[in-house]
Amino acid sequence: MSNESFPFKIGNFKCMAVSDGTHTYTPPTFPPPATFLFGNAPKGLLEEVLREHNLQPERWVEWVSPYICLLIDTGKHRVLVDTGADGLGPKTGKLIQNLNAEGITPEDIDTVILTHGHPDHIGGNTVEGGEPAFPNARFVMWKDEWDFWTSERAELELDEHVREVLLKFARKNLPPIQGQLDLIHHETEILPGIQAVAASGHTPGHMALAISSGGKQLLYISDAALHPIHLEQPEWYAAVDCAPEQVVATRRRLLNRATAENALVLAFHFPFPGLGHVIQKGERRQWQPIETLD
Ligand SMILES: [Zn+2]
Repeated sequence: MSNESFPFKIGNFKCMAVSDGTHTYTPPTFPPPATFLFGNAPKGLLEEVLREHNLQPERWVEWVSPYICLLIDTGKHRVLVDTGADGLGPKTGKLIQNLNAEGITPEDIDTVILTHGHPDHIGGNTVEGGEPAFPNARFVMWKDEWDFWTSERAELELDEHVREVLLKFARKNLPPIQGQLDLIHHETEILPGIQAVAASGHTPGHMALAISSGGKQLLYISDAALHPIHLEQPEWYAAVDCAPEQVVATRRRLLNRATAENALVLAFHFPFPGLGHVIQKGERRQWQPIETLD
């Protein structure tokens, strides 16, 4: 299996998980992974759960996270969900090259949906000179999210040590798309078969998507869970989660929906291609990645 792009179908929609690369979260820029991802987890249980995932608590010193964008060809529209991180790290910013390898140019995209304003989701909005990277696209974002990043709120409320990089990406990548922007206020259908799902918590206007065609459904949860362990322990939240209580409530709602509707799920930071099902195992839920052929 290529770890750059992974085609699949949802009913009549041709979809593709497309990698923007990977990024390594490690001290001193970030806390150690277990603290970064599961800051409120009780120590004993955390160590037990990590071992179940073959992670040695003392030796887990870096989290190498995939960044996975989604392309949806509805037959009428070509939709891109999130634009990757551009030059955030040495191994990020591969989205356009990976789209090109599949014969898709930025001009082909007519809708870009931004799930939230973090660097790894909006970094590819603009090109070097600052113009929008997708010249023919309507950009769609939740209004609360846009307002947060384009007002003083971001500056006032963000955690100090990551504030500069977050603000730098927002200032570079949000104002230039203003002329192509469509802000949504509620759970509307962005395009036929592509439904916005309110999922605030990780950020103030974080958005998930329910994509349905021909009786099949894909739930794009974006950053409502950053690691498969968040499915098993939905009350554990990450240092980058803006509003922890909302994160937990949002996550429970999305996971309930995924299991009840047996939806395929795509999570932006999970092992590539980020696709799988949320299954119930006794009291707990678990991530079951789709079978992929090597
Ligand atoms: Zn995020």
